[in-house]
Amino acid sequence: MTTYSHSRMETFKQCPLKFRFRYIDEIKKDEEGIEAFTGNRVHEALEMLLGLGKESGGEPDLEKAGELFLASWDEKYHPAVLIRRRNMAADDYRQRGLMCLRNYFEMEKGQDFGELLDLELSLSFKLGDAEMTGVVDRLQRDGGTYHIIDYKTSKRDMTQRDADSDRQLALYEIGVRQMFPDASAVILHWYMLPHRNVVDSTRSPAELDRLGQNVLALIERIESATEFPPVETPLCGWCDYQRECEEEKARRR
Ligand code: SF4
Repeated sequence: MTTYSHSRMETFKQCPLKFRFRYIDEIKKDEEGIEAFTGNRVHEALEMLLGLGKESGGEPDLEKAGELFLASWDEKYHPAVLIRRRNMAADDYRQRGLMCLRNYFEMEKGQDFGELLDLELSLSFKLGDAEMTGVVDRLQRDGGTYHIIDYKTSKRDMTQRDADSDRQLALYEIGVRQMFPDASAVILHWYMLPHRNVVDSTRSPAELDRLGQNVLALIERIESATEFPPVETPLCGWCDYQRECEEEKARRR
């Protein structure tokens, strides 16, 4: 049975043809956008940093975070990292990653989410008959209240409205509640690192039910799809399948 993640469903909604290339044809790409590469290195640095702090009981510090980030950047940078924005160089993104880490320490000041339960926690859970999966950047517990924390390195900031309608972390809440039935409350937190902005949101039981129904309806649409038309949007500029897409569009003409 297919396992569904937020990104799998989001890809279908964004462009069914891209979904086909990625999940049905399983076309692998060496190329990786530098935005995703930078975001992954920031996530790794924070995971290693907090993991070290959890083991040693020491306080994480910015200097160590920077060292971990730069070591991971240098080790993993590869020739197929794509810089698509004009007037931007690899070092601009490297500096941006360091800025995200500096902001992280500012954003952490005064935050107390209780005990650190896990980092990069893999969730596997059921929604109706569907198998779901996801990865929680950081999970903490303060009494019966669980905190799901997600780091974002995107250029666009998040509004309260975006957070209140976000599907990804609300789905993770369903998974966390299945894994930890003692959860009396769950709070969702987005760390918008480039913007030094923390956005919080909660979901009522009725909202989680509605979300579950909408997700199941979307999965049914995906499973019964026989046509995978291209949907052109500004995001096409960042699509990994531009070459295949042009061939496909020519074939359809
Ligand atoms: S380039 Fe655009 S239309 Fe083509 S597959 Fe990618 S997202 Fe879809």
